[in-house]
Amino acid sequence: METAPPTGLPPGPGARVPAAAAVLAPAAAAVPPDLATCAACLLELFDPGARRHRYAFTGCAACGPRASIAAGPPFARERTALRRFPMCAACAAEYRDPAGRRFRDEAVACPACGPRLSFLGLSGDAALRAAGALVAAGGVIAVKGPGGTRLVCDAANADSVARLRHAGGEPALMVPGPAAAAAFGRLTAQDRRLLASPGAPVLLVPRREGAPAGPPELGLVLPHTPVHHLLLDAVRRPLAVSWAGLPAGPGRRFDDVDGVLGDDLPAVSACGAADGSASGSASGAAFGAADGDTVLRSLGARAGGVRAVAVRRGAG
Ligand SMILES: [Zn+2]
Ligand SMILES: [Zn+2]
Repeated sequence: METAPPTGLPPGPGARVPAAAAVLAPAAAAVPPDLATCAACLLELFDPGARRHRYAFTGCAACGPRASIAAGPPFARERTALRRFPMCAACAAEYRDPAGRRFRDEAVACPACGPRLSFLGLSGDAALRAAGALVAAGGVIAVKGPGGTRLVCDAANADSVARLRHAGGEPALMVPGPAAAAAFGRLTAQDRRLLASPGAPVLLVPRREGAPAGPPELGLVLPHTPVHHLLLDAVRRPLAVSWAGLPAGPGRRFDDVDGVLGDDLPAVSACGAADGSASGSASGAAFGAADGDTVLRSLGARAGGVRAVAVRRGAG
C-alpha cells in the first residue's frame, strides 16, 4: 500500500509540484496566462448601463483568458478562439484607443460581435439565467471555462453535492470573496491575498465547523471569470465546483448532468490543449488549461505561508 503524502494529494501522472515562487511569479511567456476578471470589468459586468452588462466574455487588456484560448505564440487574435468573431466597429475602436482599457486587447468582444453562452437550447444571458436557476433549484450542471469543464452545484444542497462528488470528485468551494471564504476555512492574511490574486488558485485550508460537510481540508476558490460571477450572483450561495488537483472521486462523468453551460467558441489546442477532459455532452470546449488549475496549501502562520501542493493542467 502506498503511503499517502501528508497532503493527501498524491501527484498523479503528469502532475508537477513546482516551487511556490514559480507558481506565484510565472516566467514571462509569449502567450500570457489567463487572469481573473479585474475590478473594472466586474463593475462593467453588473452595470445595467454598460455595453457589456452581464456579458459572459467581458475582459480587457488586464484580464481574461489568454493561454487557454491561444493556438500558440504570438498571442494575436487570429491565433485564438476569437478568430471566428470579427470585432464590431465599437470593439475595434476600443482596440485602437491607446487611452482605453482595451487597447490592443486581442480578446476584445461584446454581445454584438463576440461568443455567446448556450444552455438547454437557450443562448446568451437567457442561458446564463436558466443555468443559475437550475443550480439554485438543486441541479448539477457542467460549465465550460478556463481549466476545462467543471461540474457546479449549490454547495448548501447536500444531495446535489453528493451527486457532484460522485461524478467529479471532491469539489472546491467557490465563494464571493475572502471574507466569505473566512467563514468556511481558517485563513491567514496572506491566504486572503492569495485567494484574490489574479492567478485565482484553489487554496487548501482547514475546514471550519460551519462549512459544508467534507474532508478536514477545504479547497477554497474565488470567482475568476464573468460566468463564475454571474452564477454566484444568480444562486446567492457558495458553489461546489469540481476541481482537478483535489482528491479524486470515482470518476469523471459529464453525461448525467442536468445541463451544460457551453459556448460557441471553437476548440483550440496548443498552449493549453483543448479541453480533453470534456467528453460527451460537454464536448467542443474551447478553453483548455489555465491558471485556474493551480492548487496551493496554506501553511497557516508558519514562515512561507503557503506552498504549492499540486498543479494539474487541462483537466477541469
Ligand atoms: Zn478587465
Ligand atoms: Zn463588439
